[in-house]
Amino acid sequence: MNRQTVFCPECRQDVIYVVKEKRESAELKGDLYEFMAQIAYCEQCGQEVFVPELEDVNLKELYDTYRQKNDIISLEKIQSLPEKYNIGKRPLSLLLGWGEQTFSRYYDGDMPTKQYSEILKLIHADPAYYLSLLEKGKENLKSEKAYEKSKVITERLLDYSAAESQSKIEVVADYLLSKCGDITPLSLQKALYYAQGFCYAFYEKFLFNEDCEAWVHGPVYPKIYRQYRDYCFDSIESEDGVDASVLSGEEQLLLDSIINHVCCYSGKTLEAFTHTEKPWILARAGLPLDAPSNRLITKESIGEFFASVKEKYHMLSPVNIKAYTRDLFAQI
Ligand SMILES: [Zn+2]
Repeated sequence: MNRQTVFCPECRQDVIYVVKEKRESAELKGDLYEFMAQIAYCEQCGQEVFVPELEDVNLKELYDTYRQKNDIISLEKIQSLPEKYNIGKRPLSLLLGWGEQTFSRYYDGDMPTKQYSEILKLIHADPAYYLSLLEKGKENLKSEKAYEKSKVITERLLDYSAAESQSKIEVVADYLLSKCGDITPLSLQKALYYAQGFCYAFYEKFLFNEDCEAWVHGPVYPKIYRQYRDYCFDSIESEDGVDASVLSGEEQLLLDSIINHVCCYSGKTLEAFTHTEKPWILARAGLPLDAPSNRLITKESIGEFFASVKEKYHMLSPVNIKAYTRDLFAQI
C-alpha cells in the first residue's frame, strides 16, 4: 500500500494517514444524498485530516449517486461518445444545437439537465438515432469534414450492429418461445416490444436493432411476424435447443421477467395494453382504428415511453415490470 503523508494540524507535523469508508450525506441541487465517502485519518492521533485527492473522489461518488437516483446518464457514457462517433466535443455540441461548450462541460463532469441527459442516452444507445441527428444538424457543423468522418464511422457501426442483430431478435424470439409454453404470433410480437422497451429503460440500450411498425393490432416486428404467421391464433411450437449465449445475464433476467409478467396475458389482452400506450397511439395519429399502416414506431419514442414507465412505477429491477402490467390489466 502507498504510505502517503499529509500535514496533521493536531500533531503539527506531516503524518502517515489511513483511509476508511464512511457513510456521508451531502446536499446537491436542493436534495440530500447519501454516499460512501473515503475519509483520511491521522495514524498517530486518529483525527480526520484533509487530503485534496480524496475530495475529488468523494465529489465524484456524490455525483454518481445523484446520477443514479435521477436517471442521469453516467459520466463514462458521456465520455465514450466522441470516440464512438468520431466527432469532436465542440462539433457534437453544435450538431445538437447546444452552446459550443455545453458538451465539453458535461464531458468534464458537469451535470447535464434531465432533458439533455435523455438525448445523450439515446445517442449512446442507438447509432441510427445519432445518424439521423447528424443528417439533420449538419448545417450547424462548421466543417464538412467533421460531418463526413463521423458519418463513415457511424455507418460502419450500423452495418456491424445490423449483421449482429440480424440474429439477435431471432435469438430473443427463440428464447421467449423455448421458455414459454403457450405463445401465439400476436403475443410474441407484444413480448418483443415490451422486452425492447424495458431493456432500454433498465439498461439504456436497445435489445435488438429492428424497428417495429404500428399495425392495427399493435406494434409488430415484420421479420418475426413473417416467420410465424402460419400459426395464426395457435400457439407456436417451441424451439427446444436455443443458444442463449449471445444474451447477457442481465438480458436473460429481463426476458425472464417479460415471460413471467407479460407473457402470462393473452395476445388480445396485450394488444389492449399497447393500445393505451403513447408510442403506438402517436405513430398512428390521425388513422382510423382499422386502417392498415406500416408507420414506424421509433426507438426514440419507445425508449422515452418506457423510461417514463420505469420512473412512474419506481422500478428498481425488471422484476418490477409486474406492477405495470398488473395495473394495465386492472384498467382495461
Ligand atoms: Zn495527528
